Amino acid sequence: MNFLKYDVAIIGGGCSGLMTATAIVKNNPKLKVVLIEKNAKVGRKLLATGNGRCNLSNEHISPEFYFGSCAKHLHNVWEQYNCDFIRKYFSDLGLLTVSDNEGRIYPVSNSASSVLECMRNYYHYFGNVDELCNTVVKTIKSGYLLECIRTDNDTVRISAKYVVLACGGKSSPKLSTDGLGYDLLNSLYIRTSVLFPSLVPITCNDKLLNLLKGVRIKGNVSLMIDGNIVARHNGEIQFTEKALSGICVFQLSRLVNEYFMSKKQTDIKIALDILPQFSKQECKAFLVSRVQHFGKYTLDNLFDGLLQKKIALALYRKCGITDLNRKSATLNKKEIQLLSDTLKQWEFIPTSASSFENAQITAGGIISSEIDFTKMESVRYKHLYFGGEIIDIDGLCGGYNLHWAWCSGIIVARAIGG
Ligand SMILES: Cc1cc2nc3c(=O)[nH]c(=O)nc-3n(C[C@H](O)[C@H](O)[C@H](O)COP(=O)(O)OP(=O)(O)OC[C@H]3O[C@@H](n4cnc5c(N)ncnc54)[C@H](O)[C@@H]3O)c2cc1C
Repeated sequence: MNFLKYDVAIIGGGCSGLMTATAIVKNNPKLKVVLIEKNAKVGRKLLATGNGRCNLSNEHISPEFYFGSCAKHLHNVWEQYNCDFIRKYFSDLGLLTVSDNEGRIYPVSNSASSVLECMRNYYHYFGNVDELCNTVVKTIKSGYLLECIRTDNDTVRISAKYVVLACGGKSSPKLSTDGLGYDLLNSLYIRTSVLFPSLVPITCNDKLLNLLKGVRIKGNVSLMIDGNIVARHNGEIQFTEKALSGICVFQLSRLVNEYFMSKKQTDIKIALDILPQFSKQECKAFLVSRVQHFGKYTLDNLFDGLLQKKIALALYRKCGITDLNRKSATLNKKEIQLLSDTLKQWEFIPTSASSFENAQITAGGIISSEIDFTKMESVRYKHLYFGGEIIDIDGLCGGYNLHWAWCSGIIVARAIGG
């Protein structure tokens, strides 16, 4: 049994915990800080973000892109801790960033490891931060005294004046975030809202997915409930064996999962518009003229040059057209109408809520009434702070969630001051 004494103990060496440690060093390098991490190394999930490129913020940070009970308390936060602030903050740590044409911010190096390195370098060179990896915090006792277990089964006790809970959520447990932080919250009677996965592929029951798997196309995706469009996003749609995927699909997944949790019996559909550059009328006119021009072609070749082969094949199947050796000129008015309608509104039925397995984020978490938002401090326990995904706030895909992980870490560090 080891006994260690620190000023600040940060539970979770993920995105928010790393930033908390860095920001504490910026404010007061003398504070003795320990970053306690279950994994063998800190920042495991950070390295996986943005497909290894780390989409660390977004030029369009705004309350409307955040959800959960805490989102409405953060209007003022986004004014102060906006995208320029975060870019400048990272630039002071030595990390240069660029934005893409959709306002997403990435490191100039195009590598998530640069983000990790700049924080670790900073706190190792300028501060007094120890990383204690392969260590799980099991209990938090008042005082504060943390009881930890190391992977070699050794136990460690850590005393600290300030404790930061930055344990992440339950999303992507393969990256070792399996919701341990919620056990700690339960033991402290800190309330959380219902947890569910967000930013995740949407499972659909459709035989055509078998044919379409592996295909990627650009288009619009709409969530329709009872025939009304409730949300729409544009981007790359990816087909997998059992699900629709891609960032634009992820953006709808929170609403789809909420729908299934509500056990509503209403009608739910995902509609793809795979020719968004044409209006409905233009699409039909275009198809009519294509049939006139290429009437001699077999149906198998009618869409060559316009659609990927697998998409064309699935489109015909969806419309019940089976003989692809027919001449295009034989398409009747009804078939042309159906093909053109399907190109503009190709419907898939989501079948179930998605699991946490492939989710990027956990919706739900510590509810707003448990938090003093000026400091991200617990209202029940003085000097106990929260950061990142463990809180009941989640954002759209596009750098919004990491932006929150950084900002909450900086707010905590400023509150701890010194
Ligand atoms: C594949 C993927 C890609 C993503 N890409 C992006 C992106 O490009 N842009 C974006 O904005 N967001 C992205 N996200 C979301 C983003 O990763 C999260 O918002 C962010 O990691 C949350 O930071 P956090 O510090 O709260 O949690 P995490 O980064 O998950 O860190 C929590 C850490 O706490 C540790 N821990 C938990 N409990 C304990 C305990 N009891 N004792 C010790 N250690 C503990 C865990 O091991 C973990 O390392 C992505 C998520 C995934 C899964």
